[in-house]
Amino acid sequence: VPTNAAPVCLDWRAKQVNPFPLKHKSDGSVIATSRLFRGKTFVRDPKTVCGVTVHQTACVFGPQADPEKKHLRAMNVPAQALAFRDGFYVITAPLLWYLYHGNSLSGPTLGLEIEGMYCGLTDDPSTVAREDIKTTWGGKPTPLDALTIATARAALGFLVEEGRKEGMPIEFVYAHRQSNEDKPSDPGQEIWEHVVLDYAVKVLGLKTQPQRAFGHGRPIPKQWEPGALASY
Ligand SMILES: [Zn+2]
Repeated sequence: VPTNAAPVCLDWRAKQVNPFPLKHKSDGSVIATSRLFRGKTFVRDPKTVCGVTVHQTACVFGPQADPEKKHLRAMNVPAQALAFRDGFYVITAPLLWYLYHGNSLSGPTLGLEIEGMYCGLTDDPSTVAREDIKTTWGGKPTPLDALTIATARAALGFLVEEGRKEGMPIEFVYAHRQSNEDKPSDPGQEIWEHVVLDYAVKVLGLKTQPQRAFGHGRPIPKQWEPGALASY
């Protein structure tokens, strides 16, 4: 997908509070968003961080009329980077912080969230079923456009480059579905093709491990990647 857009990095690592903000549920209970050590977010040994886990947020953030306020919301999303659909990406916290973005992949990877509600599988025009609608939370998939792809690629490149500068041996790229069986569409076929295979693998030289699953996860489905074997 060609694009002339130039994504903008909002590097707000130094602005983040420590510990990373907790999540408050409507019933008053509190959910931890990061691993804590003596009340602060745990700082990992860089040698233990070997990859990036790619996610879809499964939502579009508002308010659309107030981009500054919208971008600030990234600071409450536990992942090291969030790529918005408007060409901005936020680096939310020091990359070594142990944030809970990806179940058992949280410890050994950096988390990249991509804004939008994307289909798990694109539509197969040779079948009557609308696979894209069936595999999207809520049934209304967000189109993955060129600007979002460019922004997600830039954020991923930032994480790899900056992570390596801090001593992380970053070699792999994973899907959240590989560590969470309840999120088969995370991040979805189109993100896997355009951001992971066409960029993280082809351009950055990272590797996928399509047959692997971590904890309660699922391997990469055969529709997402040549050589993958799993069903969706
Ligand atoms: Zn996820």
